[in-house]
Amino acid sequence: MKDQEEDPVGYLHSVETGGTVDGPGIRYVAFLQGCPLRCLYCHNPDSWKLRAGQKIHASDLVAEALQYRRFMRHGGVTLSGGEPLVQAAFVANVFARLQNVGVHTAVDTAGIIPVEQCRGALDVTDLVILDIKALDPDLCKKVSGSDNTNALAMLAWLAAHDKPVWIRHVVVPGYTDDLDRIEELAVFLRQYKNVQRVDLLRFHQMALHKWDNLDVKYTLRDVDPPPLERMQAARAIMRKHGLPVSAD
Ligand code: SF4
Repeated sequence: MKDQEEDPVGYLHSVETGGTVDGPGIRYVAFLQGCPLRCLYCHNPDSWKLRAGQKIHASDLVAEALQYRRFMRHGGVTLSGGEPLVQAAFVANVFARLQNVGVHTAVDTAGIIPVEQCRGALDVTDLVILDIKALDPDLCKKVSGSDNTNALAMLAWLAAHDKPVWIRHVVVPGYTDDLDRIEELAVFLRQYKNVQRVDLLRFHQMALHKWDNLDVKYTLRDVDPPPLERMQAARAIMRKHGLPVSAD
């Protein structure tokens, strides 16, 4: 029997074997169960519950990921979710194994778990993809159910430890599409030299069916994606402040 401390069990939602957006290169992306947030636009509401999905040992997930190693050109493995750092010990174990064999590791997190509780995982993470829901704490609470104290503290910690970060920010009409707020975010982010890229993500309705299947109230049902011109204007603001914003 596998020892839980040496080879912990995680709860897995799903995997994607040829991911190209969740970190550099071609990646094996594992989406983990569990998230304490309730973002209005969540694309994976079926991942909220922690003890659901497939139970898998860290060593087994790593073995599965390594089967795709020859496809991971300039890529690696990303753990996403849900909020993967809810399962910080599992993430730490998986990433330590991967780093041992020279595989690049990335975590896609909303930074909701305090650094003290997930430092072991961050220590073996090569890239942190950090979702900033909103800079204004009240707005952040409105869109995600929690303020951004932990996320901003994590960003500061990552900067102090010189860890590469990609920032993600979802642009939702009526919530986070105000260009003055985007400018405030740009001014805030430009102080962090470890921010290697900023992804402004256009809100979409592709997860609508998941919300309906779960029978959870979905408040953005009648919200359209932001116009492309608004996305371009938002990205131009990031560029104006010297931030390396992705093209789409
Ligand atoms: S942090 Fe991610 S998984 Fe959690 S509610 Fe928000 S969008 Fe969904």
